[in-house]
Amino acid sequence: MKVKASAKAISDVIARIKHDGYVAHLSEGADHTIIGVVGESATPLLEENYATMDGVENVMQLSVPYELASRHFHPGNSLVPLNGSQMGGNKVLVIAGPCSVESREQIIETACAVKEAGATALRGGAFKPRTSPYSFQGHGEKGLQWLAEAREVTGLPVVTEVMDPALVPLVCQYADVLQIGARNMQNFTLLNAAGESQHTILLKRGMSNTVEDLLMSAEYILAQGNRRVMLCERGIRTFEKATRNTFDLNAIPVLKSLTHLPVIADPSHAVGLWEYVEAISRGAVAAGADGLIIEVHPRPDEALSDGRQSLKPERFKSLMEQVRRVAEAVGRTA
Ligand code: PEP
Ligand code: MN
Repeated sequence: MKVKASAKAISDVIARIKHDGYVAHLSEGADHTIIGVVGESATPLLEENYATMDGVENVMQLSVPYELASRHFHPGNSLVPLNGSQMGGNKVLVIAGPCSVESREQIIETACAVKEAGATALRGGAFKPRTSPYSFQGHGEKGLQWLAEAREVTGLPVVTEVMDPALVPLVCQYADVLQIGARNMQNFTLLNAAGESQHTILLKRGMSNTVEDLLMSAEYILAQGNRRVMLCERGIRTFEKATRNTFDLNAIPVLKSLTHLPVIADPSHAVGLWEYVEAISRGAVAAGADGLIIEVHPRPDEALSDGRQSLKPERFKSLMEQVRRVAEAVGRTA
């Protein structure tokens, strides 16, 4: 409350808190009176309603607004099953594959290569969110069918993006994990549909979104009763132009401390240049990432999207070896 808040202003605030179904805790200092609002109620607390009341100086939220995603709700790590392993467990899991599914041969060839190198799951986009409407948009359902074939051949579960809430059931028919891309992180209709599906979700951080925004988006999925959610740091937009995005290494330990959900890193989109992908992968694992998602293409010079940041299979093999060594150095396996 303001320094000169009247006794009436204070009692009005207390009355409002009780009316909203909460308990008011009064703490009177030499200058300031602080009124704590505690407990649970069916009436949502609207900060701005209190902020506009007479005598109120400031309304501060002390508890986090993402209840289900928080460690407060679930202190241990949530484990998300993936191909017989668990994302969020001791083993660092790597998802790899091309940016886009380009042909049946391309996805099967890449799937075999990443499996041989030790990947846990296959990635590949059939529905691509492209900045330009003239860029390759993905093969759609045909791409999903090719992914399913690649899974049959290799046994690798499939991670693929869904952009449209109406297509969630279709993508669920083919995919093991639904990816929600950076550009759709705050597509709340899509988040609700992804939550309702009860499918495993890989939720990427929006390029201009905060860690708290990401956790609030995860909360949408969790609120639908779907607890199988992995979060992904994929680089944010900054003033720096030397790389495609700026990898927010900070986000890895910060997320790990705020949430029980597995946290993975996408160095490919974060840096945008294949020659730096290994370094950022090592850094992410050292910082505590539970997994990585890496773009791999057998012939990056022929890729229909993101060839510049795609590793050739040989390089990917070397990355896996480096990841194993870093994982061991920080008390994990890979
Ligand atoms: C992708 O994974 O190919 C992709 C489009 O990623 P993001 O949504 O992070 O840009
Ligand atoms: Mn890509």
